[in-house]
Amino acid sequence: MKRRFPAFALEDGEIGLLDPQGGYVRPEAAIMGYLRLAAEDGAVLHFGERVVAIEPDDTGVTVISTTGRYRARKVVVATGAWIAELVPQLKANAQPIRQVVAWYQPKDGFVAEPQRMPCFLRDEGDEGSYFGFPAIGIDGVKIGRHAHFREPIDPEVPNPPVNETDTELLDSFARKRLPDAASYRVRATTCRYTMLPSEDFLIDTLPGQANVVVSSACSGHGFKFTSVVGEILADLALQGGSALPTALFSFEKHFGGQSA
Ligand SMILES: Cc1cc2nc3c(=O)[nH]c(=O)nc-3n(C[C@H](O)[C@H](O)[C@H](O)COP(=O)(O)OP(=O)(O)OC[C@H]3O[C@@H](n4cnc5c(N)ncnc54)[C@H](O)[C@@H]3O)c2cc1C
Repeated sequence: MKRRFPAFALEDGEIGLLDPQGGYVRPEAAIMGYLRLAAEDGAVLHFGERVVAIEPDDTGVTVISTTGRYRARKVVVATGAWIAELVPQLKANAQPIRQVVAWYQPKDGFVAEPQRMPCFLRDEGDEGSYFGFPAIGIDGVKIGRHAHFREPIDPEVPNPPVNETDTELLDSFARKRLPDAASYRVRATTCRYTMLPSEDFLIDTLPGQANVVVSSACSGHGFKFTSVVGEILADLALQGGSALPTALFSFEKHFGGQSA
């Protein structure tokens, strides 16, 4: 591993697992691609319009937004950190937390190139797991710790800005584990994870509301699964079930007989 992936400072005897099919998705480009394909298939896209309520009944759902009212046979609610506003059943369990990520320039540009440095997840035991990407864009190598300090936040309030405790956590990981690839921090920012107690996904029809399908924001690791999550949501909305193995993501699995 040391020879093939010189970015990583490894300890003697460490074991790594490489997925030769692993890679990364560029979220902005992927989202634009999905929107374009949806529009080509006839979807009508509304931007900058906030949904303030969904009112399900026996024959469908009324959706009320800041600018209009709509009637639909089914709705899919996938509003990320704001999911509990429209699905109050999740208020106690879908917790937005503050996440911080930082970008670093390499001392040695060779070792941080995507051909030589795979995306990684590194288990640091009690300290948690750190993830990162090679130098894909001009900002360089990206690093974060999964769930950071698990600070609960209100998604309606802007995140507290990046502070020294945040950057010291990521800088010390960079110094220790990626000294040549993540050598100088150039940028850091905050964003939001939305965690369920299981840290897994919740993708299911809302119990007692057959016309409302819910996708939780996937506990900070959902983006790479966007295509299959979309397929499951479409199956649930159009057919009432999916042939894909979805039991793991059900309300039943997450909350058993109790209400969410
Ligand atoms: C810093 C960071 C790094 C991450 N890194 C990774 C990674 O490396 N790999 C990975 O797989 N995942 C990663 N994730 C997680 C991934 O981004 C999420 O799992 C995924 O985006 C969840 O998708 P979603 O569509 O459910 O929610 P979101 O992407 O949050 O989308 C929700 C959308 O709903 C809109 N919305 C909210 N409320 C309303 C309303 N009332 N009316 C209308 N629209 C509304 C929002 O504006 C937003 O556009 C990361 C997340 C963060 C924050």
